Amino acid sequence: MTLDASNVFKLFETPTATVARRFNQPNAASAQMAMEAGGAEVKCPNCGTVIQVQVDFVPGVALNPGSVQYPNGGSLACPTCSHGINVRPVRAAIEQAAGRRALDPQPVR
Ligand SMILES: [Zn+2]
Repeated sequence: MTLDASNVFKLFETPTATVARRFNQPNAASAQMAMEAGGAEVKCPNCGTVIQVQVDFVPGVALNPGSVQYPNGGSLACPTCSHGINVRPVRAAIEQAAGRRALDPQPVR
């Protein structure tokens, strides 16, 4: 079995989503409704740079500082070494965690 290093990532909630959950009714349905964007830290398999990728669920969400928008097409260029990172699994995991589909296409920043 081979571990695919390109799939090394962890999900996190954006500050927007965290705040929304904190101040809305604490049931699961409204938490999902309030989640406007999700994010994940992706590690470049080539140089180890950690990149924060943001996936938006609704139009008009601000890009969190330090994050990059999910690239339409699913290939993210590492800002350090330009290596192309497949972030499709990241989007799928964020959608699964949120229980809803992300915007398609994602806004282009
Ligand atoms: Zn890199």
